[in-house]
Amino acid sequence: MNDTVTVTGMVLTSSPMKEYDRRVELLTREKGRISAFAQGARKSGSALSGCTIPLIYGEFMVYEGRSSYSLRSASIRKSFGEIAADYDKTCYAAYFSEMARYVCRENMDASGELLLLYITLLAMQKDKMPLKLIRVVYELRLLMISGQGLELFACLDCGKTDCASVYFQAGGLLCGSCAEKHPELKNARPFVLSGDALYSLQFILSTPLEKLYTFLVSDSVLEELVHFMRAYMGRFLPYKFKSLEFLD
Ligand SMILES: [Zn+2]
Repeated sequence: MNDTVTVTGMVLTSSPMKEYDRRVELLTREKGRISAFAQGARKSGSALSGCTIPLIYGEFMVYEGRSSYSLRSASIRKSFGEIAADYDKTCYAAYFSEMARYVCRENMDASGELLLLYITLLAMQKDKMPLKLIRVVYELRLLMISGQGLELFACLDCGKTDCASVYFQAGGLLCGSCAEKHPELKNARPFVLSGDALYSLQFILSTPLEKLYTFLVSDSVLEELVHFMRAYMGRFLPYKFKSLEFLD
C-alpha cells in the first residue's frame, strides 16, 4: 500500500471512540504530533490493543487518509509499564506528555522533542533524581528545543555574566543596571538566584542529552529552580496545563 508509512513515535494520549475503537495522539519523529484512529483496538484480542496505550514507544505503521491517519500495526520498542504502576510518576508523565503536545504540531520534525521525552521517562524509571528536578530539567530543555530558549549565561542587553540578582524577560535575563533602562521593569522585583542555581540552569541548557539527567542539587537549590521555572512559565507560557492539577 502506497499510502502506508512507518513512523517512530510515542503514544501521548489514547481515548475510546465508538464501540470498539480508539483514537491516539502520537508524537512522531517524522511527522510531528498526529492523531490516528485504531479501528477495533478495544476488541479483545486485537493486535492494536497493546500498542495504543499512553507512553508506548515504537514504530507505528499508519495509513494516511485524506484528513486523518489510521493505525494499521505497530512494533513496540518500550512500554514504560513501571511508570504506569506508580501514581506520582504517572502524573508527571501525563504533564510531560501534555507539554509535548502543546509545543508540537503536525508536519514538523519532532525528533528533539521525542528524544527528550523518551530520556525523561527513562530518568524517571531509574529513580536516581527527584521528580521535581526532572520536571525543571524537562521544562527548561523543552522550551529550548521548541525555540523558546532562554539566554541565561549573560545579560541580554550588555552581556555581563556575573549578575548576582537578575530581572527576567521573555528570552532571558537582564542585569540590575540594564533593567533600570526598561520602563516596564520599573516596579519589578529582581529575581535573586544563587550561583549554584544559575549554574544548574546553565548546565541544563548546554549539556549533551546523555548527561542531562546525571546531576543532583541540594534541597535549597532545588527549591530555587522550581521557583524560577514556575515564575518564568507563569509569565511567559500562560497556558493552563490540565495535568498540573495533579501536581501543584
Ligand atoms: Zn546588563
